[in-house]
Amino acid sequence: MKTQVKALVVGGGAVGTSIAYHLARAGWDDVMLLERDELTSGSTWHAAGLLPYFNMSFATTHIHDYSIRFYKTLEEETGLNAGFAVVGNLRMAQTQERMDEYMLYASTAETCGVPYQFMTPDQIKAKWPLINTEDLKGALYHQTDGYINPADVTMAMAKGARQRGVMIERKWQADAFHWTGEVWEVTATKMVEKGGNLIPSEEQIVITAEHVVTASGNHAQRTAKMLGIKMPAIPVEHQFIVMEQDPALVEFREAGSAEHPVIRDADAQSYVREERGGWILGVYEKGAPARFEHGVPDSFRADLFQLDLERIEDQYMAMIHRVPSCEESGLKDDFNGPICYTPDGNPLVGPAPGLRNMWLAEGFSFGITAAGGTGYYLAQMMVEGEAEIDMASLDPKRYGKWMTTEFAARKNEECYEHVYILHHPDEERPACRPLRTSPAYDRQAAKGAQFGFVNGWERPNYYGPLDAPENFDHDARSFRRGGWWQYAHDEAKAVREGVGLIDATAFTKHVLRGPGATAFLDWFTCNRLPKVGRINLTYALTEAGTTRTEYTIVRNAEDEYYLVSAGAWQAYDSDYLLKAIEDKIPEFGWMSCHDVTSQWGVFAIAGPKSRDVLGALIKDADPATALSNKRFPWLSARQIELGMCPVNAIRVAYTGELGWELHHPIEMQNYLWDQLVAAGESHGMKLVGARAQNWLRQEKSYRAFGTELGRDATPLEADLPRFVDLSKDFHGKAAMEAIGVRSKCVTLLIDGPDDADPWGREALYHGETRVGRLTSGGYSVAFGKSIGMGYVSPELAVPGTKLQVKMFDQLWDAEIVQDSPYDPDNAAIRIDG
Ligand SMILES: Cc1cc2nc3c(=O)[nH]c(=O)nc-3n(C[C@H](O)[C@H](O)[C@H](O)COP(=O)(O)OP(=O)(O)OC[C@H]3O[C@@H](n4cnc5c(N)ncnc54)[C@H](O)[C@@H]3O)c2cc1C
Repeated sequence: MKTQVKALVVGGGAVGTSIAYHLARAGWDDVMLLERDELTSGSTWHAAGLLPYFNMSFATTHIHDYSIRFYKTLEEETGLNAGFAVVGNLRMAQTQERMDEYMLYASTAETCGVPYQFMTPDQIKAKWPLINTEDLKGALYHQTDGYINPADVTMAMAKGARQRGVMIERKWQADAFHWTGEVWEVTATKMVEKGGNLIPSEEQIVITAEHVVTASGNHAQRTAKMLGIKMPAIPVEHQFIVMEQDPALVEFREAGSAEHPVIRDADAQSYVREERGGWILGVYEKGAPARFEHGVPDSFRADLFQLDLERIEDQYMAMIHRVPSCEESGLKDDFNGPICYTPDGNPLVGPAPGLRNMWLAEGFSFGITAAGGTGYYLAQMMVEGEAEIDMASLDPKRYGKWMTTEFAARKNEECYEHVYILHHPDEERPACRPLRTSPAYDRQAAKGAQFGFVNGWERPNYYGPLDAPENFDHDARSFRRGGWWQYAHDEAKAVREGVGLIDATAFTKHVLRGPGATAFLDWFTCNRLPKVGRINLTYALTEAGTTRTEYTIVRNAEDEYYLVSAGAWQAYDSDYLLKAIEDKIPEFGWMSCHDVTSQWGVFAIAGPKSRDVLGALIKDADPATALSNKRFPWLSARQIELGMCPVNAIRVAYTGELGWELHHPIEMQNYLWDQLVAAGESHGMKLVGARAQNWLRQEKSYRAFGTELGRDATPLEADLPRFVDLSKDFHGKAAMEAIGVRSKCVTLLIDGPDDADPWGREALYHGETRVGRLTSGGYSVAFGKSIGMGYVSPELAVPGTKLQVKMFDQLWDAEIVQDSPYDPDNAAIRIDG
């Protein structure tokens, strides 16, 4: 057995096998896969094999799309038939809200090039008479997906991998990982059978690998411990039952009718498909427990749990309602297996936190569907440096060090039972909350704050009515304008016309200092560095020239910088920054970098009256001028005192109004909050949440990381040349220039429906042609209509271009407007006083 390879893949389920295959296909000819037992012996063997397209995430939809297309090619390549039944997928809606959900999802499908169509109940009945359609509003139909045999598709990928030179070693378990500074030394133990268990033998070898990928399925917790990292990948029980033949179905098929599509009754939390004249019923029920929180026992191999019929009784009855002919069919077989989950349902794919050349592909709940695409895009990341799609939403570091086993287990249970809930874009899930709260949390809650969950933090989304029942937010959700809309509207107006106070404590903050800091940052980011006491907005690029992180940089001293980036991406930003610093210290000189996110609270005060509110609190020899343009110009930073609170104030406002960010010691947050609220009272200051802020920033065309900014577009494509200093060298510059401008970010005003705004995923049309997509959406209080930002081809990215936005299956007029349609000259933000 070879002991020195370029890449070692740990885990021979569908995911690991696909990764090994795709690494070889991408050109790496020295790839080995280790499997502790037999290939497919993890969750893969007992999967139902459905390959559903439906997914609200842009990256995941691309991944699923790749898999579905790829699996169709495997037989030709390997000669193995993976049993892909392209029967389609019929996702039914019992309510108009569910149809709204499908119409929103259709935006994602359309922008990813996934074919779909809507069907009426009559069309369904005419095609598939066994389905009871009397209570249906309609359905979404994917013609090109279906189901596959999970073991066969894995074996086909394994054969394809072997044909491309991959070594697949079974009965070898990876037991220890050691990074020498250049390569990984992986200790592998030969596994042997004993009394039906699989146990480690005395035989061990050390394999040296430049890169390691873990795809260990239900063993993710053990893998995490060995690597010294945290992964919220913990399985939950998942059941499906196989039923005896249904005579009506047999007759239907014998008459020459085509197989039924996979039938998803989302409102009944179940899926149904044909199986040899009978049906398979799979469910996503309430109460399915997490398993293996601290590891998989030796005794559990290709095993199953006991079926819990009681737990799925409601779904079973609902199936009889939907396909009445199955009522007489008995139970033939049952499966209750571990299905790996993560708190948000997306797998963890990408570089491991803190480690070099260690890649994770863990936490797959739709792993058969995702395996193909994951292999393809992860291989791109490993071989070429970046994938062609932005993989940030799947990055393992979207969960920080605050994440615990208990959090992951309870959140994964919640995620499992939410598979078929209505996926409102303004959805907030309750489990494990509140967890990370800023000190002012209770004060904000007492004022009616309805909180959103951002990287574990509780952040006010908006302030609702004080007399509302606790579950107000839940009832307020919609695919159209939710009950919260009017509150966000009034908050946005308050910022434009008066003054608002926003809690931005969740921002990620780093302090970088030392003799090497200036040269390093100059290389690491693309804009010129600010002078001491000044601020700039800048971007760190990927190796491939696309946007990795957006920073507001404050220069505290010649060699000291305060870096502020998005709150959702703390561990993600930290990891990239710290690794780059470590690499560059020999070149640029010593520097230290600390993540100070939890030490500094942030309030943003914004609006024409914000100077008046701060003016009432500031302690200064000349309070009347302390906040004037002369003493505190736009884009500068000053240490000020508000009452007894020392504040590092920054004159920037993400809302585009006169305003300051008040970075303060976290332990003084409540004091400062009380001072600001009291001072704001006489100015009618409103407490403002993230939703209003999101609308306001679009009026100023301020891009956001994760929407307009990501690893699939350069800052030039984001149309931010004013923040890119082409006169200097910086990381990713050559790649950025080589890419050119493939598409360009624009802002649009939209004449949409009266009761809805875009969410930022909708397709853009120019006449009959789809020309781009929105990345953000909302309502503009300044223009009294919907607003959005998105990407179109450079030729169309001209103010005045008339486009259409597809919402609720209809096209609505939209016009590209100039950048920063509200106050393009920044007069409001610069106003003196
Ligand atoms: C009842 C049920 C129905 C399902 N239906 C579907 C479906 O219809 N469609 C769908 O897409 N998904 C479905 N799934 C989910 C799907 O089964 C999983 O997402 C998928 O199998 C995950 O594949 P994997 O390769 O990540 O993990 P696994 O298949 O679990 O493979 C991981 C492998 O890693 C090996 N391993 C672990 N640690 C080590 C180590 N240290 N050294 C060497 N080897 C190691 C294990 O032995 C195992 O073989 C279903 C799951 C269940 C339980």
